[in-house]
Amino acid sequence: MSDVAPVVPGAAVGFIGLGHMGSPMARRLVAAGYAVRGFDANPAARPEGVAAARSATAAVTGAAAVVLMLPDSAAVESVLTPGLLERLAPGTPIVDMGSSEPARTRALAEQAAKLGVPLVDAPVSGGVRGAERGTLTVMAGGDPEAVAALRPLFGVLGTRVLHVGPVGAGHALKALNNLLSATHLLVSSEAVLAGREFGLDPQVMLEAINGSSGRSGSTEDKWPRFMLNRRFDSGFGVGLLLKDLRIAAGLARDAGRPCLLGEAAVELWARAAAELPAGADHTEIVRWLELRHDEKGD
Ligand code: NAD
Repeated sequence: MSDVAPVVPGAAVGFIGLGHMGSPMARRLVAAGYAVRGFDANPAARPEGVAAARSATAAVTGAAAVVLMLPDSAAVESVLTPGLLERLAPGTPIVDMGSSEPARTRALAEQAAKLGVPLVDAPVSGGVRGAERGTLTVMAGGDPEAVAALRPLFGVLGTRVLHVGPVGAGHALKALNNLLSATHLLVSSEAVLAGREFGLDPQVMLEAINGSSGRSGSTEDKWPRFMLNRRFDSGFGVGLLLKDLRIAAGLARDAGRPCLLGEAAVELWARAAAELPAGADHTEIVRWLELRHDEKGD
């Protein structure tokens, strides 16, 4: 593998995928002094202040690093192959910051390595607000030299930047994190609805739970910000979450450690995703539970 130069402010960065997360991330890089050229397949995705490239190839040509913030492995593969990988100078790091499948990430990294291009996976946690504020947690997997070269860029996007292992390790860890998060969100929704039916005030319940052992990111953050007020606008779609859960469950099965509770959660989330309106936010899981309860008439 060729030497990888540190990706510091001033460097040209090709940024592909300017959706809920990619837009604020690209804007932060611009504000930090990176020369970002952004591209998204959706012509409406044109964040203010980010120079728009005509194509993915135009965005990455001559770039010192390429950041991908795409929905899944299929999108990442379709952007990088065939053709785009070959456009990169050896030693130009590609970083997949979306939540992709570890095995497919590893296969792509092998393909890229043959061209002298290091591929790093660095998925993030912290949601749209974390992307706007630069307070994401970044879970990087890959060659230590490439991860070190990307640290200045990661530091603009996140406050907790962890090198968690070889390529694919970040994507594995992110999927497992989301399995936990989704399971907490589902069971906390069931508990709040049961309490409400019993006559408890959900706000009082959360106040008590958040000072008790039942608390989680769901009760401390998602319930107060997006669910109690019924805004359901976290900016993370239920379809994307389901993709992560399936990755985590598959990983556990492949590792010979199938998750019984996790598999049950995936099944429930799959039903919710099928029955909620297209494009529903993942916090609408509580709406789905309400709907099921109403339909049963009990
Ligand atoms: P999003 O759907 O809002 O954005 C994805 C963008 O990619 C869209 O604008 C889409 O047009 C674009 N795109 C899709 N295929 C493309 C292609 N072939 N070429 C160019 N552009 C293409 O998704 P998001 O919420 O920003 O999430 C992006 C990734 O980050 C996903 O893997 C998701 O699981 C992960 N993630 C999301 C959140 C969140 O809170 N939304 C948090 C952490 C991680």
